[in-house]
Amino acid sequence: MIDQFGRPIEYLRISVTDKCNLRCVYCMPEEGLPWLKREEILSYEEIAEIVRVMARLGLRRVRLTGGEPLVRRDLPRLVEMIAAVAGIEDIALSTNAILLEEYADALRAVGVHRVNISLDSLQPERVDAIARRAGSYQKIMGGIAAAERVGFSPIKINMVVMRGRNDDEVEDFARITRERPWHVRFIEVMPTGSNLEISKDEFVSCYEVLSRIRSIGELAATEGPSGNGPARYYRFAGAPGSVGVITPLSHTYCDRCNRMRLTADGHLRPCLFGDIQTNLRDALRRGEPLEPLVEETLRIKPERHHLVRGSDVGSGRLVALSQVGG
Ligand code: SAM
Ligand code: SF4
Repeated sequence: MIDQFGRPIEYLRISVTDKCNLRCVYCMPEEGLPWLKREEILSYEEIAEIVRVMARLGLRRVRLTGGEPLVRRDLPRLVEMIAAVAGIEDIALSTNAILLEEYADALRAVGVHRVNISLDSLQPERVDAIARRAGSYQKIMGGIAAAERVGFSPIKINMVVMRGRNDDEVEDFARITRERPWHVRFIEVMPTGSNLEISKDEFVSCYEVLSRIRSIGELAATEGPSGNGPARYYRFAGAPGSVGVITPLSHTYCDRCNRMRLTADGHLRPCLFGDIQTNLRDALRRGEPLEPLVEETLRIKPERHHLVRGSDVGSGRLVALSQVGG
């Protein structure tokens, strides 16, 4: 699959649910969102069928995300089904790790190769405050330990940087990469309907993040751990891990975009932001062929997103990233 700008698209992020067991301040409103109804959500069989169709067109890598993917019952069953699809070479998971201790062995056994874990602070009370759920820190740390124990590799840690909430920990996160093979990625807050205040008042740019990290040691640009993505990576000399920056606001990486997204209710989105999406679910349920719809969605994949700090204009009226699988 090659889009009209010559970008090879071989990666699909699949949101398996819009629900979540946390309420991260930069993502979801505290009261939650109007959740999708059960019948609106793709079954595992339907997701596997869409993956089969796309694999025939060139899809090679899949990431399961959400909402929180591990709140959907029996996720390992879906992984097993996707792993059996000819052409799929890599299955990864993005998780908040709250339930990872419980599922790590089963996920590893059925073919998850690697995990991205959200961790926004190293301080227990801050983690709980940002996630708006008491006890989160302990569970996340248990999940990270389980990920290391079962051998997911690489382990990427995602930290959304917010001024006044956790930006003073950038250096601490970076120091960890000298001790452990973690790939810590600092993410700029992306504006969505539910976080416009944070996006406006607490935004920290990747330039500031990198200059803070450089104050504790020299950084050299490096190849990222497996999996192409939007992050740019750097390393301290001799460090087992790396630091990365994901810079949706300061610097669009859209020219390197290699992905499409499938929402929990079966819409194929060629870009995380914006209004363009194709309803694959209804076509699938009517027994219509999906290939032409996938090809048309690829054809209209936009060149770039148009996010504006503190405004939801460019996000296509998205309330939260959890609605489309961040
Ligand atoms: N629940 C899982 C998790 O938290 O890893 C997967 C879904 S979450 C939407 C995927 C990633 O998006 C997480 O790393 C999260 O921190 C990030 N994220 C969510 N909202 C964001 C925002 N407004 N700006 C930047 N990153 C965001
Ligand atoms: Fe849930 Fe992930 Fe959004 Fe946090 S970032 S509320 S864990 S979906």
